[in-house]
Amino acid sequence: MSKKKLTKEAGIIKLPTRGRLKKILEQKPHNKNANNKVKISSVKKHGESKKDSLMVSVSGIRGIIGESLTPDIITQYTAAFATWTNGGTIIVGRDSRVSGEMVKALVHGSLTACGCKVIDIGIASTPTVEIAVKHLGARGGVAITASHNPIQWNALKLIGPEGKFLSSDHLEEYLDIFRFGKIEWASWDRLGKVTFYDHAITDHITKILSLPYLNPEALRSRRFKVVVDCVNGAGGLIVPRLLTELGCEVITLNEEPHGIFPRNPEPTIENLKLLGEAVVKHGADIGFAVDPDVDRLALVSEKGIPIGEEWTLAIATELVLSKRKGPVVVNASTTMAIDDICRKYQVECFRTKIGEINVSTKMEELNAVIGGEGNGGVILPETHLGRDASTGVALILQFLHDSGKPFSESIRSIPAYIMKKDKIELQDIDADKVLTQIKSDNKKLKTDTIDGLKFIKEDSWIHFRKSNTEPILRIIAEAKTQKELDELIKSFTSYFH
Ligand code: MG
Repeated sequence: MSKKKLTKEAGIIKLPTRGRLKKILEQKPHNKNANNKVKISSVKKHGESKKDSLMVSVSGIRGIIGESLTPDIITQYTAAFATWTNGGTIIVGRDSRVSGEMVKALVHGSLTACGCKVIDIGIASTPTVEIAVKHLGARGGVAITASHNPIQWNALKLIGPEGKFLSSDHLEEYLDIFRFGKIEWASWDRLGKVTFYDHAITDHITKILSLPYLNPEALRSRRFKVVVDCVNGAGGLIVPRLLTELGCEVITLNEEPHGIFPRNPEPTIENLKLLGEAVVKHGADIGFAVDPDVDRLALVSEKGIPIGEEWTLAIATELVLSKRKGPVVVNASTTMAIDDICRKYQVECFRTKIGEINVSTKMEELNAVIGGEGNGGVILPETHLGRDASTGVALILQFLHDSGKPFSESIRSIPAYIMKKDKIELQDIDADKVLTQIKSDNKKLKTDTIDGLKFIKEDSWIHFRKSNTEPILRIIAEAKTQKELDELIKSFTSYFH
């Protein structure tokens, strides 16, 4: 094994050079059997999982603890990341899930074994880790979280030196290090150290309070009463604090970040019944729900009705464009309400492939004023180029303040659509063949192929997308009424029988 050469000060930023990575990857494989490049689909099976549940994508390395996400897998993938960053400072944060301490110990060990200086920020939202990477001038970050997945899951979300998730190109470089067994372990005299930093959440809140779209003084004088459901995730450490800073009277559900989720942790409508009841019981102005790593935000009206995650980004976009015009970037499956709002403000709406990094990369390229993903993921460049529910909370409160009306009335200015998400098992279906046929039969329809196949009508659309991780075809459709939505979906179902 090669000995790693580090600069004298391990904390000094030295970005990995393409030349160095090329050199690493050109070396003979350590493992004679690793001569051939392994495809991601094979990497998924590396965990010797009974259920083959390890998923490797731009969203991270995700699996079930004790099945696919084993200590060996965690160590190897983390050490490969440390090799990719060429050592240096790495920020580590985690959500509250029960396996988090165990995974963190392995991540610390692997990073220091590769000579990295680890700065542990404790339990924190994923956006807090991303912000800390930039704020502390680190070379990368690891957010230990399986996001909205149930309690048995965990994952490594890998963050590059810009504070964003790895792009698909960087992911490929990194995975090549793993695939070819090119990990560079440090010698005994070059091992890294772990230090702790407990201001990351404060830094994050400070950044939000200084956003140009907010008037914290006006919000404080309004003294909103809010209920927030943190699902016993990382949100309990940031969202109630932020709301208190904004002068709110805060009622918190599931605040303690102990990671025993009291319900399915995904903040979808069916999981927000208790939040709705609490909003009504306390006579609150609004209810907020976040997922365990606090990058998705869902809203409940003062009447206790969950309004659906698609509305979060639409409302935030309305607020931002009302104060500053500029391009908006969303993924291919995000609500059409964003197009309508952009049209109203005469700005362009751009679409990307699904995945936070795809949206944030395009936002950076276009200098977009806001962007995100329809499932409650608000991205505001002034905070950072990643989905952030805490930023969303502040923007929604400002919207509510500016409207001067109860929340359920204030959102009447937002174009209303009904969305349906479905999936088709592909066991006996050749999805590519079917999609080619559908495309050929519907040449007259406006088509978008940036991520799968999407047909766009005047006030409805339907999107077919093959999953990267499961043998399924996702179908997402949106229309103004339930009848139109049902008819739209029905018009394509015959292709799958
Ligand atoms: Mg999440």
